[in-house]
Amino acid sequence: MNVRTYDGGCHCGRIAFGMTLSQPESDYTPRACDCSFCRKHGAAWLSDANGTLRVRLRGEPLVYRQGSAQAEFIACAHCAVLVLVRHEHDGRTHAAVNVRALDDAEAFAAAQGASPQRLGADERRERWTKLWFADVRVVDADD
Ligand SMILES: [Zn+2]
Repeated sequence: MNVRTYDGGCHCGRIAFGMTLSQPESDYTPRACDCSFCRKHGAAWLSDANGTLRVRLRGEPLVYRQGSAQAEFIACAHCAVLVLVRHEHDGRTHAAVNVRALDDAEAFAAAQGASPQRLGADERRERWTKLWFADVRVVDADD
């Protein structure tokens, strides 16, 4: 078990997260999605279905849905950094983080291309629920 917590967030601090991983960081390859939205952001996604993700929000983030509209991209409404993507399924939140938003993105391998847009909607959902963090908690920092 990798007990380290990896921190990250947007640039101004309104969105902050900490994640734990079940495996050594060398076992992970960030996925550079080739959809037009992710390409324009240079985003690469990291997740672990057996890890944990805690997100702290200060104020309302920017939420953007595109394509099949099943996933929500969360960016900071103030400094515009794209931080995570989430998907609600059966009352559960699944999410992946943008490796570029990590404080220590260098700890991970270079991103490899992924092409989820070629999958059908059901396949995509299945992939997300299998690959993404399933232990996700989002808290409002003002609470
Ligand atoms: Zn920000």
